Amino acid sequence: MNLILLGPPGAGKGTQAERMVADLGLIQLSTGDMLRAAVAAGTDVGRQAKVIMDRGDLVPDEIVVGIIADRIEEPDCKNGFILDGFPRNTAQAKALDVMLTEKKLTLDAVLEIRVDDKILISRIEGRARESGGERSDDNAEILKKRLAVYHDQTAPLLPYYEAQNRLKVVDGMLSIDAVSKEIKKALNA
Ligand code: AMP
Repeated sequence: MNLILLGPPGAGKGTQAERMVADLGLIQLSTGDMLRAAVAAGTDVGRQAKVIMDRGDLVPDEIVVGIIADRIEEPDCKNGFILDGFPRNTAQAKALDVMLTEKKLTLDAVLEIRVDDKILISRIEGRARESGGERSDDNAEILKKRLAVYHDQTAPLLPYYEAQNRLKVVDGMLSIDAVSKEIKKALNA
């Protein structure tokens, strides 16, 4: 099963993806994690990405599309993957469609974790405090920017996948366990 997790920053995509890895045996592919690894390793991509990530903007499409195209070729993706944080805009979604068709892979569902903006702000502030600055893009200052980027660039993917009849919406305001249950229900429906 190949899935996409959509939702604004702080919606709990990473947490739910980890649970789905454990429950469904899927691989989690987080472009955010991969970019942070590149930043930590000090690669050219990492250096280029860091400035952009710290601003709360999206890194160029060709970088993330290239990363995902290479990654889904790996043998561990054969049993299925969860895309967490990719695609982030329509150009990436179209590139993904082409990539999947070329590789004869199907996209089984797109799960939207829907959360109210006000709840997100308090969650992200909490996460910024917990990480003690570990995620330099995770402070409240740029939260509004990241949310604006989500609404402006990523939210248009919702009608895009709805038109493909793949979109399933889950209520991200519930407890972590309840959201996991909703996801299971949505996937079995
Ligand atoms: P995330 O951990 O998914 O919230 O991503 C953290 C940051 O990495 C984002 O704010 C972007 O700057 C960058 N990023 C992650 N995934 C993508 C993507 N698919 N396209 C562009 N930028 C991305």
